[in-house]
Amino acid sequence: MKKAKMREVNFYAYETYCMVRIEERPEVSTLLAGCRDLALQVEQTLNMYDEESELSVMCRDYRPGQPYEVSALLYDFLDTSLSMAKRSNGAFDPTVGAVVKRWGIGSGEVRIPAEKELAILINRTGYHHIRLLPDKRAAIIDIEGITIDPGAIGKGLAIDYIIHYLKDYHVGQACVDFGGNLYVMGDTYRIGVRGPEDPEKMMAIVPVKDQAVSTSSWYEHYIERDGRVYGHLIDPASGKPVESEFTSVTVICDRAIYADMLSTALYVLGAEKGEAVIRSLREESGICVDYLAGRAGDGKIVSYSDTLK
Ligand code: ADP
Ligand code: MG
Ligand code: MG
Repeated sequence: MKKAKMREVNFYAYETYCMVRIEERPEVSTLLAGCRDLALQVEQTLNMYDEESELSVMCRDYRPGQPYEVSALLYDFLDTSLSMAKRSNGAFDPTVGAVVKRWGIGSGEVRIPAEKELAILINRTGYHHIRLLPDKRAAIIDIEGITIDPGAIGKGLAIDYIIHYLKDYHVGQACVDFGGNLYVMGDTYRIGVRGPEDPEKMMAIVPVKDQAVSTSSWYEHYIERDGRVYGHLIDPASGKPVESEFTSVTVICDRAIYADMLSTALYVLGAEKGEAVIRSLREESGICVDYLAGRAGDGKIVSYSDTLK
């Protein structure tokens, strides 16, 4: 097959480099600008570090027990992330924001919280404190001071919106890469998955087509203090960085939002509990997931496939 000529747009969002590449066509510049605008719109709506984002305004202004109306985008994010929180029994929990901020995750400067302080912050977390009212497109939060963190899902959500938009315009070939959260459409790309110990070494090359790939690992982002390295994924139960059975988890799935959420969830849960989550997702929603992970300790590669069965 003759390869189509491709055009791309590059921009900075989600604190990372983002790229969207599609096949050459007459309105290619307009389409690429549309993709960038979508990504920026998702970031602007959901950024917990921007006090003016709709998400931050909600977390500041809601009143416990009262319905708070939100945009369709914010509702979509809340709905999908809360259902993953429920399915993973809280291992994935978008309400960890206060704890994440306290550790300095995102600021690059670790501040180790005292146990007492953590206990107070944990009281301000918990996905079960949020209930959604689909008819009113509203959320009811039953405690004060919740901080919602979109960090483990925003890029995946934006990528799915972009793919949807491109399909609407009958684009056949595309590749989207938001800081290692990828989606490949229409063509097969061979994606290198970084090794568990040494991120410079590939542990596998996987062919990907009409699928998303997302990785969560300690080395992807970490914070260092007094010679100790802390990962950026928090165990919501303890409020501390997870000591994972994995060093990195790469998820392959046909929806970018699930690849993004599940790489985080599996990192927190480990193989056994993580696979139970994957199976429940397939059984109840028909979403198929493959994953590849490096095991901490011996560095062995663990893999699981819904699609190769
Ligand atoms: P990346 O930062 O590369 O996108 P992830 O998708 O795994 O990696 O998201 C990590 C971010 O998710 C963290 O920086 C933090 O903001 C947030 N987070 C940390 N722990 C959890 C958790 N247990 N559940 C949901 N979100 C989390
Ligand atoms: Mg994620
Ligand atoms: Mg991610």
